[in-house]
Amino acid sequence: REESEVVSSSGTRFLLLVEPLSTNAGTAGAVVLGASLARGDALRATVRFSFLIGAILGAILVGLAASRLMLLALAPLDRLVQATRRVAGGDLSVRVSEEGAAGEVGQLARAFDAMVVRLEEVFEAQRRFVADASHELRTPLTAISGMLEMLEIGADRGDPVQKGRVLRALTHEVERMARLLAGLLALSKFEGDERKSESVQLDEMVSDLRPVLEALTRDHEIRLIIENVPPVRGDRDQLEQVVVNLVENATKYSVPGGQVTATIGPSVAGDRVILQVSDTGVGIAAEALPHLFEPFYRADASRSRRTGGSGLGLAIVHSIVQAHGGKIEVASVVGKGSSFTIELPAVANDRALSPAGGRSSQDA
Ligand code: ADP
Repeated sequence: REESEVVSSSGTRFLLLVEPLSTNAGTAGAVVLGASLARGDALRATVRFSFLIGAILGAILVGLAASRLMLLALAPLDRLVQATRRVAGGDLSVRVSEEGAAGEVGQLARAFDAMVVRLEEVFEAQRRFVADASHELRTPLTAISGMLEMLEIGADRGDPVQKGRVLRALTHEVERMARLLAGLLALSKFEGDERKSESVQLDEMVSDLRPVLEALTRDHEIRLIIENVPPVRGDRDQLEQVVVNLVENATKYSVPGGQVTATIGPSVAGDRVILQVSDTGVGIAAEALPHLFEPFYRADASRSRRTGGSGLGLAIVHSIVQAHGGKIEVASVVGKGSSFTIELPAVANDRALSPAGGRSSQDA
């Protein structure tokens, strides 16, 4: 039976093969063959070393590639951080999104740009508002100081009629400033979050307003057409202001004797309440319609000034309607009249809704 064994001698390994020599009398001896394993061992060491170096190099390469990829992936985020810093520093001209950029980072960049564009618009609107408000306040102030100067140097020459005229003009300008300031205050209040959230029956509200509306339209014919409507949610005082502003305008921009009609009714589906104020007045030019709800905009500046308008009435109406989740539209024909229509979302109601047969009042 052949046996093998590995032995070491002087640092070299040998493979020994032992072949027993058998005779009839039993095992007489053995032939021992020895082979040096030095070359094989050296080769194995070289291979092991190469593997080790290969693995280390591989790990380094993978690491380098990964960090390069990470840098590439993080570059847009880095740009975003830089852009955010510039925006925080007041630079709103910065944009980060690239044409066709895909993935989450691309989406983030587009959302960022949209946000900066919106910020730019809001700041521009605020800047314009402050400039317009200053201009509006300066006009009566200049008139007031001019008239006071006239009184001071005795330009009226002691004539009580002349003096009375100047004093009346002064009062008029002071009242105009007071109205303007009240309008500005109202607008800032209505644009803010200061709002009651109560259930409001607009049909009842307009009925209750009748004496106020009749007083406003003393020189005109007013008609109230009121149908049962579901309640809306909001601030009754603000909604009253909407009706008053619209009816006031309807009389301001029409000749005495004209007709003003305020209508309240449900939408066809019954899920909204429709309030309409129409007049048979001067009408509004088509090119003025898109600007009508901007603060201080006047379609007919001379008439508006004559009637003491602040140019804020419709801006206030618009912001109240928006805050109530509604919308406002205007239709007008020059020389024939205008019609402002407001739709407000109704809240679920158990009061029976009968657009055709419900309570309806009409009077002139
Ligand atoms: P103002 O204080 O000048 O009335 P508003 O904001 O209430 O300001 O209205 C803006 C402008 O819209 C008015 O100056 C006027 O030219 C026009 N306008 C508003 N309502 C009517 C209307 N019913 N008929 C014709 N023009 C109107």
